[in-house]
Amino acid sequence: SEGIRIEGLRKRYGEGDTAVDALKHVDMEVAPGEVVGLIGPSGSGKSTLLKSLGAVIDPTAGRMTLGGTVIYDDGWKVTDLRALRRDKIGFVFQAPYLIPFLDVVDNVALLPMLAGHSNAESRERALDLLTALDVHHRAAAMPSQLSGGEQQRVAIARGLINRPPVILADEPTAPLDSERAMAVMRILHEMAKKYQTAIIIVTHDEKIIPTFKRIYHIRDGVTSEEAGEGRPIS
Ligand code: ADP
Ligand code: ADP
Repeated sequence: SEGIRIEGLRKRYGEGDTAVDALKHVDMEVAPGEVVGLIGPSGSGKSTLLKSLGAVIDPTAGRMTLGGTVIYDDGWKVTDLRALRRDKIGFVFQAPYLIPFLDVVDNVALLPMLAGHSNAESRERALDLLTALDVHHRAAAMPSQLSGGEQQRVAIARGLINRPPVILADEPTAPLDSERAMAVMRILHEMAKKYQTAIIIVTHDEKIIPTFKRIYHIRDGVTSEEAGEGRPIS
């Protein structure tokens, strides 16, 4: 794995007079094992950048490499995006899209099962993560029975379970209290170290911003890099 590398990424929506240059110039580098923050005001291009990173939309120009694979070169797709999303990227979205007819443990165990691991091993791995996220007591519950905070923690477990080389998280701690937000950050840092994962976290959360060693700011479609406080997570 070689983390995430983006050079001169641009994204234009539409054409002609109504065209919007959502990303004008994005340079980013996240090493394996590193957790970085992405911060910017509303309309600055954060969602567009996350969608480009997740190969959900195609950028207009630039170069992007994920986990050692070139995804876009001068705006051209050069790989199988479906396989990429399945094997290389863990998504942690703000709204937890859990599968309503599977209980909590199977929502999390589904991805390793689909990847060919046994049901027993997949559930064991899922329970380990649910324990680390302090929701194991809800393992047999259905998603509709969970609080917002519990759903979010289950969604985080699902994003991490396949140990992808890249994790993209959109406001993962927004609905959580301070203690749980820190627990999530601790787990993301542990994942990053243990599995050499490159993690990007889009956030406004003042509770977690001081924990980043490095932060990318995006303003009007242009990124800049800044040192963060890198405060230890207690
Ligand atoms: P953020 O996530 O930081 O709020 P976005 O990436 O959503 O920013 O939006 C960046 C700019 O691109 C904004 O000006 C927004 O209006 C525009 N934009 C976003 N999505 C589209 C779209 N599908 N079509 C046209 N313009 C869009
Ligand atoms: P959290 O801090 O994780 O969001 P809450 O304090 O909101 O947890 O919820 C405490 C308990 O109440 C949880 O076990 C949760 O399952 C239950 N609960 C909260 N909201 C709902 C809801 N809308 N539907 C069913 N159960 C709920």
